[in-house]
Amino acid sequence: MSTGGLIVAAVLLVLLALTPAVIAQGKGRPFWGWWFLGLFFLLPALIAALIIRPTDLTKRQGLATEGYRACPYCAEMIRPQAIACRYCGRDLPPGGVAPEPAERWSPDADEAADRAWRQVEGNN
Ligand SMILES: [Zn+2]
Repeated sequence: MSTGGLIVAAVLLVLLALTPAVIAQGKGRPFWGWWFLGLFFLLPALIAALIIRPTDLTKRQGLATEGYRACPYCAEMIRPQAIACRYCGRDLPPGGVAPEPAERWSPDADEAADRAWRQVEGNN
């Protein structure tokens, strides 16, 4: 093969490697990692890119653009018209975005309670 033919083949490979990279990126995967993979293993990378599942974040973003919202109790994505969550079964306020539940554990709240308790005990 001539030098010119080698260059053409290299450019073609670099461009072809973009295919699995673009597909994988659409599913929330790193573009350049998949491009690199496609450079050396084009066919396996292409097949893998086609069969991998989208990341949870990508799925959530897709659902959010369709009007889905996160359940305030279990954080699963639910339909905007839902009055009960299909995942955790809890009732939701009809219409609009459900308010945050009043009681929800968080590390900050736990720490604050701990601090308050130590002050009451007087052994801070
Ligand atoms: Zn739920």
